[in-house]
Amino acid sequence: MEPRYFQKEIETMPREQLKQLQSEKLVKQVRHVYDHVPYYRDLMDKKGVTPDDIHGIEDLHKLPFLTKADLRETYPYGMLAVPLSDCVRIQSTSGTTGKRVIAYYTQKDVDLWEDCCARALVAAGTDKEDVVQVCYGYGLFTGGPGLNGGSHRVGSLTLPMSSGNTERQIQFMMDLKSTVLCCTPSYAAYIAESLKEQGYRPEDNCLKAGIFGAEPWTEEMRHDIEAGLGIKAYDIYGLTETSGPGVAFECAEQKGMHINEDHFIAEIIDPDTGEVLPEGSRGELVFTSLDKEAFPLLRYRTRDICVLNPLPCSCGRTHVRMSKPMGRSDDMMIIRGVNVFPSQIEAVLLNEGYAPNYQIVVDRAKNNDTFDVYVELSPEQFTDTVSGITAREKALAGAIRTMLGIGPIVHLVAPKTIARSEGKAVRVIDKRKLHD
Ligand code: ADP
Ligand code: ZN
Repeated sequence: MEPRYFQKEIETMPREQLKQLQSEKLVKQVRHVYDHVPYYRDLMDKKGVTPDDIHGIEDLHKLPFLTKADLRETYPYGMLAVPLSDCVRIQSTSGTTGKRVIAYYTQKDVDLWEDCCARALVAAGTDKEDVVQVCYGYGLFTGGPGLNGGSHRVGSLTLPMSSGNTERQIQFMMDLKSTVLCCTPSYAAYIAESLKEQGYRPEDNCLKAGIFGAEPWTEEMRHDIEAGLGIKAYDIYGLTETSGPGVAFECAEQKGMHINEDHFIAEIIDPDTGEVLPEGSRGELVFTSLDKEAFPLLRYRTRDICVLNPLPCSCGRTHVRMSKPMGRSDDMMIIRGVNVFPSQIEAVLLNEGYAPNYQIVVDRAKNNDTFDVYVELSPEQFTDTVSGITAREKALAGAIRTMLGIGPIVHLVAPKTIARSEGKAVRVIDKRKLHD
């Protein structure tokens, strides 16, 4: 497929020119924030930096960071950089890691956000002939509104389904011949499973592509979803604080997500020291929004851990690519002193032939961490004998031990006993936090 773009000139802009553009926008944006957001002005004053010190992206490192704690402290309107009467929309985070944070948008902010989502849709092959089924949640969560707006911009027929009611999702998908599916990867896996149960084969639907994000997912899960739905599955990344989904998206190459660098500068820092790391290092992703008017965060720490790749891409896009975040720095569990990301366990499960329906339960007994992984069997696997299942549990625990260096107790459970997610999946139950 020939690469297609929504905004070709920007998406394929030579890097030198792109950096120049970022520099010009940064100088203006820092002035805008300094003049209108007293909270950030105080942070800059404390650091002894003024807008006059910022001449371009080379000076970015002089600016103070912002964190989710700052947004909670300034809730609700402490970060507002325009009169509230100029705002037309509020959205909020899902609250995955604590109290929700809200974001506010001018009409221009909404327009630019929707452009970003449109870029993602077009990169996945969407055009005005397509029927785009959006089953991210609508409402305060940014997933539904973002992809909905992007789909309108592309001119596709948009189905604002929202999440849930899987029966109806399938009915509309079949009757209205949806060609592009947008939802969380865990919900896509559930839809694939439900289609199969209803006797549909992957070739029975008209879907060609899926745009899945809002939570971490592995390559193994991508393969499962692609096979189950008969589509090509594209990753999309974003967070409410930077507007929502569409900050970065995959092209047909599927080797990292292009960050929309005309709107956002990305940095990778050491999460412990805050030091900016050299190109190609793994670390915490930090964003500076260059165009947002109402809620223009500078050097916002996402807590997502990834690597940036500035090498040219065969699709022609020049914007840097971020690797799939393997999890947030605060998603990482420390079990018996070992760093564990749920994505590592998911990769093992899928490799060993299990579906991505699992839950990790960590607790503490007699000052020792307990580590249990519940994994659902498929109906075919469930016909095994008790001793067969026990052997499987041991084998799976061994495979996880090989990956992590520590072994869990694996519990293989009956089909359909682990709750399915229509939005972001809950993979970890850390009961230790309850005792502390
Ligand atoms: P919350 O922080 O409450 O979940 P959001 O709904 O704004 O709020 O979610 C943003 C977060 O979702 C990101 O910081 C990231 O951790 C996660 N996320 C979004 N897209 C992806 C993706 N494609 N892969 C992995 N994680 C993602
Ligand atoms: Zn590309």
